[in-house]
Amino acid sequence: MDELFVPPVDRWEPEAALLTGRDAVLHRSHLVGADPALTKEGGGNFSAKGIVSDHRHRITRVLWMSAWGCDGAATTPADFPALRLDDLLELRASGPLSENGMIDYLVDCGLRGEQRRPGIETLTHAFIPYPHVDHCHPDAVIALTSFPGGRQAADAEFGDEAIWFDYRQFDVGVARELADRIAAKPGCRFVLLANHGLFTWADSSEECYRNSLEAVERATRAVRKAVRRPPDLGGQSVNPPAPEVATDLLGELLPAMRGALSAGTPGVVLHLDRSDEAVRFASSARGPRCTQDGPSCPDHLVTVGYRPLVLDVTPAGTVADPNHTPTDTGTDPNHTSADTGTDPNRTSADTGAVLDGIERHRRWYNDYYERHVPLTARGLGRRGDAPRAIVLPGLGAVTAGPDAAKARLCADHLAQTMTVIRAADAAGGYVSLTEAQGAADEYWPLMRLKPQLRPPEGPLAGKVFLVAASDDACAATVADRLAASGAHVALATESPRQQAGMAASAAEICARHGERRAVALPSLASDPEAAARDAVLAYGGFDVFIDLTRSGGLAPAALAVFDRQRRRGSVLLSRDGRSAGELELEIGRLEADAEGRFGLTVNAVATADPVAVAEAALFLAGPVFGPVSDTWDGTVLSPRQAPGTAHHTVQTTAHDIPYESAHDTVHATTHDTVHESAHETAQESAHDTVHESAQDVHDDTIHDNARGSR
Ligand SMILES: [Zn+2]
Repeated sequence: MDELFVPPVDRWEPEAALLTGRDAVLHRSHLVGADPALTKEGGGNFSAKGIVSDHRHRITRVLWMSAWGCDGAATTPADFPALRLDDLLELRASGPLSENGMIDYLVDCGLRGEQRRPGIETLTHAFIPYPHVDHCHPDAVIALTSFPGGRQAADAEFGDEAIWFDYRQFDVGVARELADRIAAKPGCRFVLLANHGLFTWADSSEECYRNSLEAVERATRAVRKAVRRPPDLGGQSVNPPAPEVATDLLGELLPAMRGALSAGTPGVVLHLDRSDEAVRFASSARGPRCTQDGPSCPDHLVTVGYRPLVLDVTPAGTVADPNHTPTDTGTDPNHTSADTGTDPNRTSADTGAVLDGIERHRRWYNDYYERHVPLTARGLGRRGDAPRAIVLPGLGAVTAGPDAAKARLCADHLAQTMTVIRAADAAGGYVSLTEAQGAADEYWPLMRLKPQLRPPEGPLAGKVFLVAASDDACAATVADRLAASGAHVALATESPRQQAGMAASAAEICARHGERRAVALPSLASDPEAAARDAVLAYGGFDVFIDLTRSGGLAPAALAVFDRQRRRGSVLLSRDGRSAGELELEIGRLEADAEGRFGLTVNAVATADPVAVAEAALFLAGPVFGPVSDTWDGTVLSPRQAPGTAHHTVQTTAHDIPYESAHDTVHATTHDTVHESAHETAQESAHDTVHESAQDVHDDTIHDNARGSR
């Protein structure tokens, strides 16, 4: 039988036995947090109890509790605020406490004033009467608690050593009940939280860690014993297309997805999962449908939402069984099947099905919100209604986020759910939270407070640039400046000799500014179609194409991507040694080519100075004329008229750019003169309905993918 779960790795270091208090839990959080078999990035929480001297030299019992939203793998001492344990224990037997009252109380228990906020499971950590307590989200434990016979399987394996706890929100009542049940079961070492994860505890840090490893090993064994059918989710119902066909399809589909998912936001970054596991799951008979039954874990709810969109856009000819429709969708309105036609050689993608599917998901989400979220829980705003994850039979899965790291984290949680579903399905069927439970948790005020904890984004957050260059050093300088402002940059060079240098520069930019903030494309700028497609595969699409090549020629491929995104795009030209007049001619040619197409601006900088180019790019894509710096004295040629209207060229410098040249829709409202020339007006009106909640959507769709830590 295929392995159901990747097992955790025992990383205990003997010398760690000497660590005490906060040092001990800090070390343990690194071990647990870095092991994806135990928890995904940002998941779980960890604590230790000890004695310190407070500001008045009083001996004080404390709980060092990992902060809300921190990533266990990367914690520092500051991520473990010290809380007065005796004050926390006061709540063990007191009366009811509201959610906000609980949070305020936890903050007030802080030993120091300026500490990070502890997580919502803090009271459970405090009430479990052991020095070391861990909470994590192992695939195997979640799977064991996600099928109908899971409880019996758990009882048979763990007996009195584990407590089974049905899914509930972690309020003070849960903490008390858990503590009572642990006290009533002296030999107990584990709590199995249904559809959620695990609690372990011990007198020593090592024992606590080993209890988690043991729980995963035993949960794996219990699931394996319960398996009654092959873990193949009913076998493949869609034959994945050949890799090159899949690549071409994705090259067409992803920009349509990115455009639709970006509506009402500054932009999103897509993450593509084409791993064997993802493709097999997405192509299986039962897997995609099971995803509609809810999240595997609360962290999935935070990142992916209650459920992903399933979208079958495989071309005809990939269905394994001619008697089996590629998407046996039943009546699920969220599950969309494209009209794939009858030509088995057809490889062109059905972008209309993508748009329809995303729209259908939005309608489902809004209905889910209306049906399940009470008025009292709506004060903190609605989360974005666009899907954050899309399962593509035959092709894999796509996830979206405000940046590459959050899109990847969303993919991690979707992958975890795929693992859980596969195992639970083999053991009798996947059972998760109902829509009502999901919505209650999604809009639980404590969950909704999370966005406040998120770090600010740069002015170019969500924006993607494709930079093609003859000079890799120049491209790297431009990319670094853009990435510093929150952008993601795909880099293409003209020469194979420069590719290694470009890759090294991209790696440095990522080290400075964040995960996948720059990517060196495998294809060359001299192959425009391939370069544009590879940028699409990297990020889902792009908003600005910067052409720093000697030969040019990539713009038409970039325009095709803008068309598929149905989203305004910009081209910025800069050619060493070319006059402003020559650039102006090229602008005219590109604009003629863009005639009647989706909104496009074409601009040029008549200098090859990378600083000037970067400043011009910031100006083009930034929210408020970009942060144009005093260092830019390049020239912008900015004919920003709608296609089909009179051609008009403004030549100006950075220091006196007139408002009329602004093209940013967000600020157009404050500068009425812009309205008549803003060719994105059409796009704007199309999104009027989301505008009022744009900020909220931005905060949520965009930022909600932040690390969960429940
Ligand atoms: Zn949790």
